[in-house]
Order: sequence, then C-alpha cells, then structure tokens
Amino acid sequence: MSRNTDFVPFALPSLGREEEEAVLRVLRSGWLTTGEVARALEREFAAFTGASHALAVNSATSGLHLALEALGVGSGDIVVTSPYTFTSTAAVARHLGAEVRFCDISREDYNIDPEALARLLSSEPRAKVVLPVHVGGYPCRMQAILETAKAHGCAVVEDAAHAFPLRTERGMAGCLGDIGVYSFYATKTMTTGEGGMIVTSDEALARRMSLMRLHGFDREAWDRYTSPTASWRYGIAEAGFKYNLPDLLAAIGREQLKKADRFLKERRDIAEKYLAAFASEPKLELPPVHPSHAWHLFSLRLRGEAASVDRDGFIERLMGRGIGCSVHFIPLHTMKYWSERYALRPEDFPEALDKYRRSISLPIWQGMRPDQTDRVIEAVLATAAEARA
Ligand SMILES: *Cc1c(COP(=O)(O)O)cnc(C)c1O
Repeated sequence: MSRNTDFVPFALPSLGREEEEAVLRVLRSGWLTTGEVARALEREFAAFTGASHALAVNSATSGLHLALEALGVGSGDIVVTSPYTFTSTAAVARHLGAEVRFCDISREDYNIDPEALARLLSSEPRAKVVLPVHVGGYPCRMQAILETAKAHGCAVVEDAAHAFPLRTERGMAGCLGDIGVYSFYATKTMTTGEGGMIVTSDEALARRMSLMRLHGFDREAWDRYTSPTASWRYGIAEAGFKYNLPDLLAAIGREQLKKADRFLKERRDIAEKYLAAFASEPKLELPPVHPSHAWHLFSLRLRGEAASVDRDGFIERLMGRGIGCSVHFIPLHTMKYWSERYALRPEDFPEALDKYRRSISLPIWQGMRPDQTDRVIEAVLATAAEARA
C-alpha cells in the first residue's frame, strides 16, 4: 500500500532530534528529577507568556488541584465550571471536598456562557472560584467572565489545557485570571509526554503552590535539591503533594516551546485549508473562528434536527475511510459520577448537549502532511454527501 492510504491518526506528537538529544543529555547528566532543566523551562515559559511566575507540574490536573488549594477551596465551597470539558477540570474541586456547579456553554462557541454565569453566581453565594475552559483553543469571553466573577467575590482559574499559545487582545489566554493552567499531555499543542505548567502574577499564590507541589518542603529543602553544597537537613511546612515535573520531561518541553509558534502556524494552515474545503457543504457547520485561535481542536458540527443527526454513524464512516476522529466533549453532566452526584439530566444543559450530539473533531496536528489533510477533506466531504442523500 502507498503512504497515501495509511490511516490518518487523530493526534500524533511532533518530536524531533532536538527532543531526543535533550533527553539524552539529561539521562547522561545523572540528574533525572526536578532541577535546573525544569527551572529553565519555567523561566522560558514565563518569558514566552509574559507571566510573572511559572511553575512546572507533572500534569494539568495536578496544576488545577494546586490552584484551587492555594485559593483556599475546601468543604462548603462551590467551584463553577462548564460541563463541556474533561473530567479533571471539575474533579479537582471534589479532591478538596468542594462541590461543583455546572454552567452551560454559549450558543456561538464551546465555552462557558457569561450571561448564564452571571445568573448562576447571583443565586449561589457559596461560589468561590470560576473555572472557564478555552475549549479547542478558542478564547472564552474573559472580560465578561472576570467582571462577573469579581462582582461576586470569586477568583478565576483558567483551564488553558487547549490554549497554548493563544494571544488575546488582553494578553495570553491562561494569564488573564488569577491562575492559569496548561497541559503538556501527549496530544496537546506542546508536550512533555505528561506534564503541565501553572502561571500566576500573584506572589503569595505562587509561593503556596510551589510549597504544595513538592511535599511541603520548606524553602531550604528545595535549595537542598539544587544547591551544590546540599545538606541532609530539611523541614516540612505542610502535608504537600508530589506534583513536580522531572528534568527528564522538562527537557522535552524546552525543545517543544522553541517550536511553539511554528507548530501554531502549521495548525492554523490546516484549519484554514479545512475551513475553505468545508465552507460550501450544507451538512457541515464550521467551528467559530478567532484571529489568534490556538487550533488545538478542529470540531465540525453536523446540521439537521438534533434528534435525527447521526453523528456516531458519521464517525464510523470516517473511521472506515481511514480517518481518526474524536468527540469533544462528552458533557460531564451526562456521565455517571456527575449526573448521580448532582441529580442532573442531559437536557439540564441544552447547549452542551446539542453541541455534543453534533460535534466531530478532525485530525489537526503539527507534522500532518498535505496528502493527509487532503484525505481528511475527501473523506469528510464524501461522508457528508452520503449523510445528505
Ligand atoms: C487534557 C485536559 C486536562 C488535563 O490535562 P492533564 O495534563 O492530562 O492532566 C484538563 N482540562 C482539559 C480541558 C483537557 O483537555
């Protein structure tokens, strides 16, 4: 078979000789855990985003947990987020004994609806944190969200797992609220295999998250790891977590970060090609477009009566044509744990449900060849024509 007919995976990391050599250097250095390389990645990430503090962690989930902990979230508190996200966005509130209130997404995009948020916060005095998600790399309406949250005394933590890099008029997505968290999971726009980064401009929050990230070691203990005259003596200030990013993985991150803008341009070119190719197909609704979209996801929606849209059949046919695809997201309120805990029905969040029923995410990753994007387009158009017939 020619290369042309190979399966096109939904996602694939783009790793080169630079990443391989960086990992080898760390392996040969004898220092595998968190040290100078992770510190360097933090400095470089802070410079790239303009954040005052950047803290490398072993996942975005860990970062979100640290963020809510530092903001004092605990039992009796409410964390407000959208059901249109990955489970860890909401689960971290439960790790701290807090409860989650879901707020529906906007009609125009996949992000939390600021008007619905204002209504919810007016009736929920225990709300402590609002946790918007920039779904797919499309920016949330942050000005409205920040104003509403502030008016109700809530902090804002951005789930920026899809939003690197996303430059808005107000600054980098992830750097607009009190704390922002990025993911370096294998399928994200830059990766360390597993990993993440927290950013904040608040010194006290940064200090708390830094303390809790690594066992609650006091300041001197951290120096014990990084100082050449290391001492055996250390103190413990808190019952901390084990959320540090090892140098072995940070080394991959430093190389990926250097390529982040090139990666973005590649994804944007793919998105523009898709947008042009699908514009005149009546069965397909295009994703919302923003000039600085990070294009982590390219999610199409099928048009037609919601009840009669055969999204699953569409995906099956695409898979049959050798195209990997996915759905973002299965709304949390339709999943067993969340629906049972809060007695939620699918129709409680109609926008999230409608988007879920119609959406298909197509392959969009740096390193995709033109013949691969051509094959995606051919397969989608052929399947759409069948769906219309
Ligand atoms: C991937 C993802 C996360 C979790 O990231 P990890 O680094 O795997 O913990 C959180 N939120 C969203 C929206 C994600 O897509």
